[in-house]
Amino acid sequence: MSLLARARPELAAFKPYASARRSGFTARIRLDANESPWDVSDDGSGQIADLNRYPSPQPDDLRRGLATLYGVDADQLWLGRGSDEAIDLLLRAFCRPDRDNIVAFTPTFGMYRIGAQLQGAQFRALSLDADAGFELDVQRLLALTDDDTKIVILCSPNNPGGTLYHEHIEPLAERLAGRALLLVDEAYIEFAGIDSAASLIARHANIAVLRTLSKAHALAGARVGALIARPDIVDLVARIAAPYPLPTPSVLAALLALEERAITRMYTRVSRIIGERERVSAALATLPDVRTVWPSAGNFVLARFADSAAAFNRLLGAEILVRDFSAQAGLDQCLRITIGRPEDNDALLDALAGGPR
Ligand code: PMP
Repeated sequence: MSLLARARPELAAFKPYASARRSGFTARIRLDANESPWDVSDDGSGQIADLNRYPSPQPDDLRRGLATLYGVDADQLWLGRGSDEAIDLLLRAFCRPDRDNIVAFTPTFGMYRIGAQLQGAQFRALSLDADAGFELDVQRLLALTDDDTKIVILCSPNNPGGTLYHEHIEPLAERLAGRALLLVDEAYIEFAGIDSAASLIARHANIAVLRTLSKAHALAGARVGALIARPDIVDLVARIAAPYPLPTPSVLAALLALEERAITRMYTRVSRIIGERERVSAALATLPDVRTVWPSAGNFVLARFADSAAAFNRLLGAEILVRDFSAQAGLDQCLRITIGRPEDNDALLDALAGGPR
């Protein structure tokens, strides 16, 4: 059963903005979009071809390339300004303000709560216990859902805990069938060495998956992310999206990142990060000030310190910035450490150990 029936009913009759690039016409002389007829260099020598023109809303070549990479059909993909944009648009598409809610666990990626608040949707969260390894009880998560729950979000590997929850996806999708979208955020999946949930969409119409080029593909600055879902949901998101979500330079950067050599380099980087993650985790665990290091399937580790403020400041003194999570419920004395280059990680471990080891 399609999940479209659970989208905001007023969007069924919603007429999307009819941008020039969506008209379907092509012509030698294009006077349809109020663009500049010259590129920025005035003589056609601009570094990026066609930058004076609006981009395609969803460039075919990038869509096809990413669909191949993710093992899905091109019409199952919507590409946007990072996966952040897809999160925002799904909330807007499904949640009626002041009425609907979304369900997730905490701690998790902060944009789910912010996106829900901006849409006027309630954010309901199941607190996971750090001391129990952030274990998820699916029944307790489901107990938070009701008739007005439109989206349940599962971040796996989770940020900041690094825990994988993929084994819960199918049971959850079954229980939510026809009721709510199960949005699986796979921003860090390349570092987890497991299969994407995208292949489950064939069996479960209510699963949607988020992927990004910001992490493993080293393109955080390009802001390119993907929503993978049934074509009807993809179409709905495309209809409410801004006319040109993907800037031409970002599309070019993404296309380069899909070339075979770039993909090989991506896998090399990923295996280096995984190796470093294991090395850093093991080394952290031996430090007297470190209480817990949670096993991570991402490109970061979460660690609890005896005194996280002291550790944070010691690192800052060595010009190393990590993310302080100590103010978040359940994460007292916790810092999240992104895995860097081997020399960065050495500097981090040296600074925490109080000098060169
Ligand atoms: N999901 C998760 C779990 C994240 O940690 C992040 C970024 N920190 C994002 C999504 C957003 O990624 P982007 O918008 O760069 O694709």
